[in-house]
Amino acid sequence: MTKFSDLNLSPKVLKAVDEAGYESPTPIQAGAIPPALEGRDVLGIAQTGTGKTAGFVLPMITLLARGRARARMPRSLVLCPTRELAAQVAENFDTYAKHVRLTKALLIGGVSFREQDKLIDKGVDVLIATPGRLLDHFERGKLLLTGVQIMVVDEADRMLDMGFIPDIERIFSLTPFTRQTLFFSATMAPEIERITNTFLSNPERIEVARQATTGENIKQCVVMFKASRRDREASEKRKLLRALIDSEGDKCTNAIVFCNRKTDVDIVAKSLKKYGYDAAPIHGDLDQSQRTRTLDGFRGGTLRFLIASDVAARGLDVPSVSHVFNFDVPGHAEDYVHRIGRTGRAGRDGKAMMICIPRDEKNLADIERLVQKEIPRLENPLNSGNSPVQVPVQSESKAPEKEDKPSSERGPKPDRGPKPDRGPKPDRGPKPEPKPERSPEPTASSPARNKPSDDKPTENKSRNRGGRGQDRGGKKVVGMGDHLPGFIALSFDERRAI
Ligand code: AMP
Repeated sequence: MTKFSDLNLSPKVLKAVDEAGYESPTPIQAGAIPPALEGRDVLGIAQTGTGKTAGFVLPMITLLARGRARARMPRSLVLCPTRELAAQVAENFDTYAKHVRLTKALLIGGVSFREQDKLIDKGVDVLIATPGRLLDHFERGKLLLTGVQIMVVDEADRMLDMGFIPDIERIFSLTPFTRQTLFFSATMAPEIERITNTFLSNPERIEVARQATTGENIKQCVVMFKASRRDREASEKRKLLRALIDSEGDKCTNAIVFCNRKTDVDIVAKSLKKYGYDAAPIHGDLDQSQRTRTLDGFRGGTLRFLIASDVAARGLDVPSVSHVFNFDVPGHAEDYVHRIGRTGRAGRDGKAMMICIPRDEKNLADIERLVQKEIPRLENPLNSGNSPVQVPVQSESKAPEKEDKPSSERGPKPDRGPKPDRGPKPDRGPKPEPKPERSPEPTASSPARNKPSDDKPTENKSRNRGGRGQDRGGKKVVGMGDHLPGFIALSFDERRAI
C-alpha cells in the first residue's frame, strides 16, 4: 500500500498530514499527488468523501512553499461552486499548511469586499473563490490573474449544473497558459470533457469511483405515500417525516432532510421546530452568516436536523451523519446518489429514507435504474397502527392546517401559533408549483456575468441537464440540449448573488 512518505510531499506537509491522523493516502490522493508534484495537469474524476481536497491541497502547498506572493497577484487559485465548499477547502488548507508560511484569501459572496481587498492587496499565495465573486473582484480592478501558477477547478460538474461554465472559461483565459491545472469532477459530462480538452494539457487522468455507486454501508428505503386529499399532501408528508424520524429513535443521532424546493426547506424546518425537533434550514436565500452558523452548529453537534436544498448541501463534509431523509424524491437521479452519500461516510453505517408521492414515481424509477437496484419499500409507519407519533384523527371537515399542529407531547406551543402549512386552501384551484431548487444553464454565448447564484431555482423535470449528457430515454444530449436556457428568465440580481 502506498504511504504518504512515498509521495514526495514536503516534510512540513507530511507532518501536518500525520497530525491530521491520516494513515495512508486515499486512491485519489495516491493517484493525483505524484503527477501534480511533477507539475503535470491532473484530471480527477472523484466525488466528495474520497479525500480529493487533500489530493490537490497537499501538492499545492508543497509546490508553493518556494517563492513569494506579490500584491494583487495570487500564485494559485482554487475555484469552488458554492460558498460552503470554498470555506471547506479553506479550512482544509489551514489544516495542511499549518507548518508552512503561506497566505490565503477566501473570496465568497456575502462577505464584505473591503476585507477581501485588503488581503489581496497584501499578496496571497492561495486564493479560494467562487467564480462570480472572483470575477467581481477582477472587474473592479483589484486582482490580476496573470501570476497564477496553479489553478484548481473543484466540483466541475456542479459548476456546469449551476451555469458557471462561461465564468470558468473566462477565468481560464485570464490566467497564463503556462499554468498547471488540477481539475476535479464527479462525472464527465460532454461539456466538461470539452472544457478539459480545451484547457488541460495532456492531463494525468485518475478515476476513483463510478458515478452511480451508492455505498453498501448505507441502508436505503422508501415509503410510497398517497395523501388523503391533494390539499393535505404537504402537511401529511410532514407528519410522515416526523413518524419516520421517530421510528428511528436514538439511532437517528443527526440527519440531513433534503427538499427539492427552497420554500419547502423553510416550511419543513419551521414545522419540525414547532414540533420540538432541533432543526434549522440551509439554502441559498439565507444570508451567509446564518448559513455558516447553521452549518457550524450541525457539524459541532449542537444542531440535530439540517433541512437542506441540494445545492447548499452539496459536497459538505460532515463525517458522522446517521440519517438522510429525502422529503422529496429528487428530480435528477444523480442527486439521490449525492444526497444519500452524506451519510455512511468514512466506512460508517448510514440510513437513507425517502418519501415518494404518486407523481414522483417516475423519478423513483429513474433513481432505481441509475443505482441498479430496487430501493426496499417501507410500510408507512402511520398506517401500521403502531405509529410512534401521536396523530390526531382528522375529520374531512377540518382545515388542512389543523393536521400540522403539534401534539402536546411534542413540546410547548409557540406563543403566536405560526401557520406552518402554506399549502393551497381547500376550495381554491391548484396553486402554481413553487419553483424548484436547481439553477438553469446559460448558453455558452451568455455573458460571463449573467450567471445564476449557487442556489437559484430552475425548472426541474421539464428541463434536461445537458451536463449529464443523457436524457431519460438514453439519447445523448450535448451541451445545453434544445431548451431555452432558463437563466434568461432570471433577473440580474438573482444571478449575481454568489
Ligand atoms: P473530501 O473528499 O476532500 O471532502 O474528504 C473527505 C474526508 O476525508 C475529510 O473529512 C478528510 O479530512 C478525510 N480525509 C482526507 N484524506 C484522508 C486520508 N488520507 N485518510 C483519512 N481521512 C482522510
